Order: sequence, then C-alpha cells, then structure tokens
Amino acid sequence: MTDHKPECPIGGCEPPATIGGTRREFLGAATAAMATALTGCGTLSKEEFLQHNFRELSKQEVLDVIARLEKEYQAKYGREVKVANTPAIPGVIFGYALDLSRCIGCRRCVHACVKENNQSRDPEIQWIRVLQMDKEEGVNVQHADAYYNPEEVPQEGHFYMPVQCQQCKKPPCTKVCPVGATWRDKDGIVVVDYNWCIGCRYCMAACPYGARHFNWGEPHLPADEVNPKTHYLGNRPRPKGVVEKCTFCIQRTRNGQYPACVEICPTGSRKFGNLLDKDSEIRYILENKRVFKFKEDLNTQPNFFYFYGV
Ligand code: SF4
Ligand code: SF4
Repeated sequence: MTDHKPECPIGGCEPPATIGGTRREFLGAATAAMATALTGCGTLSKEEFLQHNFRELSKQEVLDVIARLEKEYQAKYGREVKVANTPAIPGVIFGYALDLSRCIGCRRCVHACVKENNQSRDPEIQWIRVLQMDKEEGVNVQHADAYYNPEEVPQEGHFYMPVQCQQCKKPPCTKVCPVGATWRDKDGIVVVDYNWCIGCRYCMAACPYGARHFNWGEPHLPADEVNPKTHYLGNRPRPKGVVEKCTFCIQRTRNGQYPACVEICPTGSRKFGNLLDKDSEIRYILENKRVFKFKEDLNTQPNFFYFYGV
C-alpha cells in the first residue's frame, strides 16, 4: 500500500479551520422565500433559514435546533425520534476494510444501511452500491455491473466490490462546497449539515466514487420504518433538495457500535475499527494483508481499504 507524498499521518489530516463562506453570503441578499426557490427545498422554514452552520452554533443553540427537529419529526411521523449530537471521540480515527475474497454480492449490507440510515424508500436512495466485476478483468470500473440481478450469488467468474463513501483524508467533496455545509470531522468521518446544504451538488460532481446522493424528490420514509435513534450529522430524516451519503453510521460508531453493514454481512467481509489503535483488527489488516485503495492515483487518501483475506 503506497500513498502519494506529502502524506497525512495514519487516519489523516485535521479538518480545515475555516468554514468557507456562509450560506447567506453565498445566497447574497436573498430572502427566506428566495432561499427556498434556490435550494429547491419547499419546506425550508424561517427558523431553518436563519439557523447558523452547525459548527458555529453555541451549545444552547444546538439544543434548540435539536428540540425543533425532534418536534418536527414527531409531527411528521407520529412517533418520538431522538436526534443525538455525539461528538468525535478523542484518539479515534475510524477506518474500514472490505475483504473482496469473501464478499458474495448478496447486498444485505445495502438494505441494512437503508433501514439504519432512514434512506428514502421512494424514490429509492442507497448509500452502498455493490459492483459485480469480471474476475478476468480485475478491478475495472468500466466492466462493472451495479445492476446485476441473478437468481443466485455469487455468480461464476465474478467477484463483488461494494462501494460507499470512502471517508477520504483529502476529500474533494468538501473543498468544492461553496457554503461549508460538508466537512471532515475529527474522527475522519465526512459529514453534511443538511440544514446548511443548498443543494448545488458541486460535492457530487467532485466525488470520484459516486458516493453522494441528492434528494430530488421529497424522501418517502414510512412512519413505521423510521429508525428513531438518529444523529444530527447522520441518519436523521433528510429534506428534499439536500445531498447525503454514508457516515460510517455515525449514530452507532460514536457510541462504540459497529456500522449496520458490518453487523449484517453474513460472510464477515466487512471490518471496522480505530486506525489509531495499534491492537485493532483494522490495523492488523493494514499491516498484514494485501491492501489497496480504490482510485488511489487520485490522491483522495480514503480511510476505506480493500483487501484479499485469502
Ligand atoms: S453483505 Fe457482505 S457479502 Fe453481502 S454484499 Fe455486502 S459485503 Fe458482500
Ligand atoms: S468518497 Fe466522495 S463523498 Fe466520501 S469523502 Fe471521498 S470524495 Fe467525499
């Protein structure tokens, strides 16, 4: 495994100190009504428009915002939805490794992710894509099929490569955001403040992994399927007109749990842990297995690794 120089330390660089421009600066003299038109979010309330970037809020403002959101979700889904604000744990940078020799392409990870992260069922949004690859071609995106649908998996002559946000140490997606609505947090998780996102989709264009997804329509999430344990920067229900993506299940992993995709995988292909912990399984894999990074030549420096366990 090699990286281009200059290299970030294991786990990576600190997030930028500045937040970029403000959304209101970007929108110029627009009024709240104008902002609604610009963002495409037909539901942007005055309070939401006036809300600051999450990183600029005082403790009390965070509590007020969370209380407002919980009330809105209660009204919308008729049930209690908790919104946590758990910060990054000091001394932790999360890393992920996926064993390509074990993955059978069953897509259980995809569906567990949809349920856990309150993704829209209609229109359907999925943060994980599983690519079916030709064994003879190796990892060749041009020969990949993301829409395979055989009776049984794995299919003879193929292997499977799930792709989701790679939580890059040098994420091009955050650099292009004109309002600073997305950033890399201290534990290496790249997050989005959905209340600050203006839906311009520059980040989607910049991401070389196709990991970001835009809510073109009003997300449809049946009330009885809502996961009520949410995080402000993670799986809380999103509005129309914003971009979303995998956050390594921030609502779980910052509380010491595995991501939902790791738990569900029937083959044990998915490994997750703290890159700064020398005794962790993830470090063992990085130090002892044949590991590669997807599109390494782009120097995005993912904290997501692929390896061959056998
Ligand atoms: S659940 Fe595991 S085996 Fe199935 S597609 Fe996902 S990573 Fe592969
Ligand atoms: S995979 Fe894409 S969305 Fe995720 S951090 Fe890298 S550039 Fe950003």
